[in-house]
Amino acid sequence: MSWRIEVAVQAPAHSALGDTLSYASAVPVAPGVLVRVPFGKREVLGIAMAVMPEDEAPDGASSRALKPLAGVLDGVAPLGEAWRDLVRFAAHYYQRALGELALAALPPQLRDLTAAQLARRLQRTTGAYPAAAADAGATVALSPEQAQVLARFEADSGPFLLYGATGSGKTEVYLRAVAALLARDPHAQALVMVPEINLTPQLEARFAARFGAGAVVSLHSGMTNPQRLAAWLAGHAGTARIVLGTRMAVFASLPQLKLIVVDEEHDPSYKQQEGARYSARDLAVWRGRREGAKVLLGSATPSLESWHQSRPADGKAPAGRYMRLHMPSRIGDGVLPTVRLVDMNLQPPKTLLSPALLDAIGQRIARGEQSMVFLNRRGYAPVLACGDCDWKSECPHCSAYRVFHKIDRSLRCHHCGFAERVPRACPACGNPDIAPVGRGTERLEEQLTDLFAPVRRPDGGAVRLLRIDADSTRRQGALEQQLAQVHGGEVDILVGTQMIAKGHDFRRITLVAAINPDGALFSSDFRAPERLFSLLMQSSGRAGRDAAYLAAQGGTAEMWIQTHHPRHPLFAALQRHDYPAFAAGQLAERRAAGMPPFAYQALLRADARTQQAAQAFLQAAGTIAQSFDEASAVTAYPPVPLAIQRVADVERAQMLVESASRAALQRLLAAWQPALHDLRKTPEGKGVIRWLIDVDPQAI
Ligand code: ADP
Ligand code: ZN
Ligand code: ZN
Repeated sequence: MSWRIEVAVQAPAHSALGDTLSYASAVPVAPGVLVRVPFGKREVLGIAMAVMPEDEAPDGASSRALKPLAGVLDGVAPLGEAWRDLVRFAAHYYQRALGELALAALPPQLRDLTAAQLARRLQRTTGAYPAAAADAGATVALSPEQAQVLARFEADSGPFLLYGATGSGKTEVYLRAVAALLARDPHAQALVMVPEINLTPQLEARFAARFGAGAVVSLHSGMTNPQRLAAWLAGHAGTARIVLGTRMAVFASLPQLKLIVVDEEHDPSYKQQEGARYSARDLAVWRGRREGAKVLLGSATPSLESWHQSRPADGKAPAGRYMRLHMPSRIGDGVLPTVRLVDMNLQPPKTLLSPALLDAIGQRIARGEQSMVFLNRRGYAPVLACGDCDWKSECPHCSAYRVFHKIDRSLRCHHCGFAERVPRACPACGNPDIAPVGRGTERLEEQLTDLFAPVRRPDGGAVRLLRIDADSTRRQGALEQQLAQVHGGEVDILVGTQMIAKGHDFRRITLVAAINPDGALFSSDFRAPERLFSLLMQSSGRAGRDAAYLAAQGGTAEMWIQTHHPRHPLFAALQRHDYPAFAAGQLAERRAAGMPPFAYQALLRADARTQQAAQAFLQAAGTIAQSFDEASAVTAYPPVPLAIQRVADVERAQMLVESASRAALQRLLAAWQPALHDLRKTPEGKGVIRWLIDVDPQAI
């Protein structure tokens, strides 16, 4: 008897190949097993998604001569049915080829190793992860709010949204939820996700201290390929009881998964921005339901989607699907920082820090406390310009300026990476007097250094500044070292981007200042206010986290915001720490305008050599969409150029489609997909370099 094996392989993106390729085998293999198969002239890794006797195959017995499997990697247990369902669902929902998505979800090294190499690797890692010692580390007494939240978490099935103030001890809740699970079930596994790699070391340390280093593995893109493979195998074998990771970890194979935590669930980093544009948070909720694992989303500023989803019943409407848990108070009688708004209209133009803010930071230096100054723009200056002609440091390949980095005297494009040395004189008119316009963190650091040069620390020394951003942390281990300097009290003023605003448990910072957040107030993206509010709330959350320290210092925790729009309602809500009021206002606007979470969106994007070609493709795609049955339930907007229209000499355009019904939108996308592959081959598709569909886009 001969067997038909349906195999998912990594076919090039957008090839119109079906979901799986068929191969023949003389013996049946287990579904989910990893195989090597001939593919074109190569041999590639694949996943056996379905196995059936050849005479039961849908298109009849041996109607075609199928190629046989080239090999079976039987050292690795088959990927479970739940995992296969997850990648199938994700591929369909996010409109990608199954093989592409499924293979990308595996550690890269798995693709490259031969069966023999893999067997050797397995031998080395087996047994490297002892089972978790149940709650090895010391625990703290729970706050009443933590205890109450955990009791409800244990009593219900969720999914849960833990809405907890910054410093309310959400991480302790995650630790306890995991501990209770591991104590109850000797095989259970937990997945804990954070939005950014730079938050994993801190979390890993806390989990390792509590459960023992052997029970915890991490999964993120900052690891080497051998590390990733070893961690993945430990999860897949069930020996790793706790997997910590960034969004990619949502696809980890965890046969005994019983709990998924998504910390900072509102964070846009959970949305993958290339390839399959999945939301790891949304997939976590789907996966939890499929596998019977409890899902716990946590945030001080939940996404409006999750906030709306967790609404209580109100007489008129039933409750949302999530259960909302609330921890309003900071640990140990801590209070949230006082928010001070500085009206920059009343300051002389070009004021960096208002005198009151300067004074407040000075007082902290005198008391030996730390301050954090936050500016969400790296580099020295966003533009370099000539004073005589109208030359600016435009990127020749993008519709954007190249950023001036003074440290290595370069002009660097943050979109395509194009970099050059700063010219000595204006390239257009020869004027030697070219000057930076605007300010990034490098310049801020330089200006603050000058500003605080006359100020002395209590020990008579000079004020110590440290900048942390993507540039300062490029070197492996640099971020850990810089954070250690802050935690060790070797820094008086910390300057940085959003990298330092999120998640970190700083103990001695008592003042946080956002010196120029206004740009986001008037963005064309409807999510900009939500993002700004959460970023400012998160940043303010870095101040005054240690109530005992603050009390001993006799000071207060403050968040300073310098703005030209001090009466903006967003700031008023922030001053009251009133996320619910802010969210209610935003949701009312979104409901009135028919925007998410009251509508579902997808973007069709086309990249081409010319803007005209990109838009022509979208126009034709729109006409096709109109012919579908679902068209009446879906609105397709006209094509528009992206905000940054050209990147790396490629013109980009997009078209928004929107529906009040997620199902109608999904049906339309499913019908569109094959039609778009065909469209690519017509004259309208000629100039198109690539196209993609972004479902539930996070930036419009
Ligand atoms: P969040 O994640 O909500 O911002 P964390 O979990 O980081 O807050 O907690 C803030 C600080 O309070 C941490 O240093 C943590 O160790 C401490 N902490 C948390 N729970 C307790 C508790 N029950 N008793 C004492 N300290 C606690
Ligand atoms: Zn010039
Ligand atoms: Zn560029």
